[in-house]
Amino acid sequence: MTATIIDGKAFAAKVRQQVAEQVSKIRAERHEAPGLAVVLVGEDPASQVYVRNKGTQTVEVGMESFEYKLDVNTSQHDLIALIERLNADPKVHGILVQLPLPPQLNSDLVINTIDPAKDVDGFHISNVGLLGTGQKSMVPCTPLGCLMMLRDHHGSLAGMNAVVVGRSNIVGKPMAQLLLGDSCTVTIAHSRTKDLATVCRSADILVAAVGRPEMIPGDWVRPGATVIDVGINRIERDGKTKLVGDVHYESAAKVAGAITPVPGGVGPMTIACLLANTLTAYCRAKGLPEPVGLTA
Ligand code: NDP
Repeated sequence: MTATIIDGKAFAAKVRQQVAEQVSKIRAERHEAPGLAVVLVGEDPASQVYVRNKGTQTVEVGMESFEYKLDVNTSQHDLIALIERLNADPKVHGILVQLPLPPQLNSDLVINTIDPAKDVDGFHISNVGLLGTGQKSMVPCTPLGCLMMLRDHHGSLAGMNAVVVGRSNIVGKPMAQLLLGDSCTVTIAHSRTKDLATVCRSADILVAAVGRPEMIPGDWVRPGATVIDVGINRIERDGKTKLVGDVHYESAAKVAGAITPVPGGVGPMTIACLLANTLTAYCRAKGLPEPVGLTA
């Protein structure tokens, strides 16, 4: 079997297009636009690239983009004061604080200062609790993107066996909650899981969010399964730097029914879902109907 490739780049473009159409309607009818504020503390090169991409794509879909670049030595007090200003700003509907933060800053405290209704990353403890109890919440962008691709590919996910490898707060745990919400039978695996190969082979849906290059070989994949590879790992091969996932793509693609490539799979969906979440936050704030197909 050769797997169907789930094209995250094309899917993300479709999501952005859908967001752009809604924003254009909002601009025409209400003479305003959803606004996203992104806060970056310090000069971590990877974070700078992410923030730049977020800003560009926010403007491309017609939203207002507000960028705050703060010195690496910014105090907790000053960062919290900025977030409180953004919470109160009626032009800002989404707030994202780029992680990781420098060591003098307490990430949990900072994230939990964001108004949960503007928490477009879905990391605020209230949103985590709402998701965990199956209530309407802001959903973390990367797992939301994975869910959208799975729903698009399968329609209903009810009754499928899903295995999520990785239990981080930003990917693994919310991914498992979302799959449970769609009535999958969910197993969460991690570094202490026994016989991970057998656990993975039980999956109709296998989500890898580990951060270890090509750790999951093709013979851990059940024939016909759908493989969602969240991993983004930089490796040196044949004298070149290459991006690979947590799944060994070549061998897995021979067995799986469908698979996301790296790059071009889950990665592009994350910012698209950030824009979708900002639109959702705007609609909720204004009492408008939520955008169809862009929420969990
Ligand atoms: P974390 O490091 O926070 O979590 C990794 C998880 O993998 C942990 O739960 C850990 O288990 C588990 N793990 C580590 N080694 C093994 C092993 N040998 N067997 C089984 N489980 C193991 O990573 P993140 O969740 O933040 O990210 C995971 C990957 O996804 C990374 O490659 C990251 O770059 C990528 N990513 C991609 C995004 C995107 O596409 N936009 C967004 C976010 C992340 P334990 O808890 O027991 O230590």
